[in-house]
Amino acid sequence: MAKTKIVVVGAGYSGVFGTKTLSKKLKKNPDVEITLIDRHSYQTMMTELHEVAGGRVEPTAIQYDLQRLFCKRKNVTLVTDNVTNIDKENKVVITENGEYPFDYIMLGMGGEPNDFGTPGVKENGFTLWSMEDSIKLRKHIEATVKKAALEPDAALRKAMLTFVVCGSGFTGIEMVGELLDWKDRLAKDNKITADEISLLVVEAAPTILNMLDRNDAGKAERFMVKKGIQILKNSPIVEVAADAITLKNGEKIPTHTLIWTAGVQANSDAKVFEMESARANRLVANEFLQAKGFEDKGVYVVGDLVYYEEFENTPTPQIVQAAEGTGHCAAMNIVAEVNGTDKHAYKGNYQGFMVSIGSKYGVACLFEKIHLSGFMAILMKHMINLKYFLDIRSGYYAFQYVMHEFFHIKDERNVARGHSSRYGNVLWSVPLRVFYGLMWLVESMKKVVGEGDYLKPSTWFGQGSWFTDNVVFPFPWLQEAATSGASGAAEATTGASGAVEAGAETVAHFGLSYAYGEEPMMVFDHMPKWFASVMEFMMPNKEVALFFQKFMTIFEILIALALIAGLFTWLASASTIALVAAFCLSGMFYWVNIWFIPVAFALMNGSGRAVGLDKWVIPWLQRTLGKWWYGETKSIYGRSK
Ligand SMILES: Cc1cc2nc3c(=O)[nH]c(=O)nc-3n(C[C@H](O)[C@H](O)[C@H](O)COP(=O)(O)OP(=O)(O)OC[C@H]3O[C@@H](n4cnc5c(N)ncnc54)[C@H](O)[C@@H]3O)c2cc1C
Repeated sequence: MAKTKIVVVGAGYSGVFGTKTLSKKLKKNPDVEITLIDRHSYQTMMTELHEVAGGRVEPTAIQYDLQRLFCKRKNVTLVTDNVTNIDKENKVVITENGEYPFDYIMLGMGGEPNDFGTPGVKENGFTLWSMEDSIKLRKHIEATVKKAALEPDAALRKAMLTFVVCGSGFTGIEMVGELLDWKDRLAKDNKITADEISLLVVEAAPTILNMLDRNDAGKAERFMVKKGIQILKNSPIVEVAADAITLKNGEKIPTHTLIWTAGVQANSDAKVFEMESARANRLVANEFLQAKGFEDKGVYVVGDLVYYEEFENTPTPQIVQAAEGTGHCAAMNIVAEVNGTDKHAYKGNYQGFMVSIGSKYGVACLFEKIHLSGFMAILMKHMINLKYFLDIRSGYYAFQYVMHEFFHIKDERNVARGHSSRYGNVLWSVPLRVFYGLMWLVESMKKVVGEGDYLKPSTWFGQGSWFTDNVVFPFPWLQEAATSGASGAAEATTGASGAVEAGAETVAHFGLSYAYGEEPMMVFDHMPKWFASVMEFMMPNKEVALFFQKFMTIFEILIALALIAGLFTWLASASTIALVAAFCLSGMFYWVNIWFIPVAFALMNGSGRAVGLDKWVIPWLQRTLGKWWYGETKSIYGRSK
């Protein structure tokens, strides 16, 4: 029997979401093949394009390789190619390099900027709707500021240092916000003053951020004005030249950079499909998201490309939530057709809006009730972005996102205002790492040697050693079993924290130092009940406890050696935090040694990469495990062998 072929065109938010849904729902059906075609080998996180254009992150930070997203989906084939037409009669997708027959097709090719025929935008303006756009714009801004810095003519210099954003939707405001963040760095690198750089938003409507609640929009506007961004409302641009823009009222604003974000229309590649279109060339679909006129041909349209009026005169918005929602709905309806069950109408579920103005300020409205601004709004934006990775089940890119946005950002351009991304030389933490490793080695060896002589291995494993048949843990349910009981436990504590003679009747004082004869204070002198239950579950009897104490000693020695050698330093340091926490909760750790914890945190800074084995081992592991788990990433999928 011929297999059912499903083709998804476009690996944007709608296409990726739709393909994941199809793959999951049809994974038990061996008679279905899913092919995802995109002109790129990666998904572009469109909502963060301004971060690339504004010099905040590198392009690769917002490119999500499709192989890494779909490597575990055996029923999905990836193809990197440009779709040029669709033969709807014979049900074949035509690409630049091949043809792909289909039984069902989902078109999610997104949108593109709409200049409404304004003269000069195509020739002299910049847009922000693809990876290529954002890289081109970034290079232009860098080159223009560099040129301006050497320009002696004041008027020309001013024009070059004036950056105009046309449009005050998400894209325009987020773009100008990035420029605001970038200004100081651009100025510093080119030895000019940041005040010389002017930023303008030009909006045809009388208000800005019109998809937001007026209060939220007002907050955003006040912030931008306070930061020196000029906002011109009621000011349609009628012409764009290479060195100036002209407003409807005749005013000319000299600038060499006009960023056009004023309108969105359907991807013009879809024009040749000859399907019915509506406003902004979007393809008309019914409530099941089937293309009008091709309901019986298995053609579905999703994302920014689809025009479906859920409510009269109100098409689905061109936002991520709608892209995901339509992608999911169309996928479920294709599954229903394959399985012969009922299709469902699309129902929009929009939870709110968030707009960032640079890396540290934003406004957000959630569920039409919760209004946030500043730090909280930006934090929420990061949460929503992270949720996307959960939705598409990509732990890898969730991790990469956190690394890029929180830890690798330069110039303090993140929500933590640079506190999480300060670059330092890890070489300076090498002495601390080696010292910390030696401390663990000494402490763990005490547990091996007991009261023996370090220099005479034949005296080890005797009295006081964790390798005897005496249980050292001070857990009440093990006390009967351990005849030495409390004294054994007290000896054990010397292993972890180098302390005190058993049974000494001294008073505990809080303090990080202590005098001889004075008993240092335990972090917890009583084990919390919940911890006792966990321990009792793990070590119900003497045999298991004896195994644990030996195992822990060996584990500590391994940690110590790893720290000294700089091997798996992050993991080794994190393990010591867990161990110290467990010792504390067991009533076996003193305040005097609590510095173990902050030191372990400090060593999680990649200190093994300097004069340590991590420098070679971690990159090798990343390459080898990455290849094993995700397969090989390529610049072209499907066509290259
Ligand atoms: C700078 C910017 C900021 C934004 N900010 C927000 C925001 O904060 N919140 C929000 O909700 N929305 C925002 N949006 C809008 C949001 O990004 C879009 O609504 C969303 O990307 C639409 O998803 P999609 O799947 O329809 O299309 P896209 O994500 O655009 O994906 C389309 C895919 O189709 C591929 N493709 C196109 N043509 C072809 C072809 N001929 N052959 C093969 N492949 C093709 C493309 O390569 C692309 O991968 C922003 C957009 C931009 C540009």
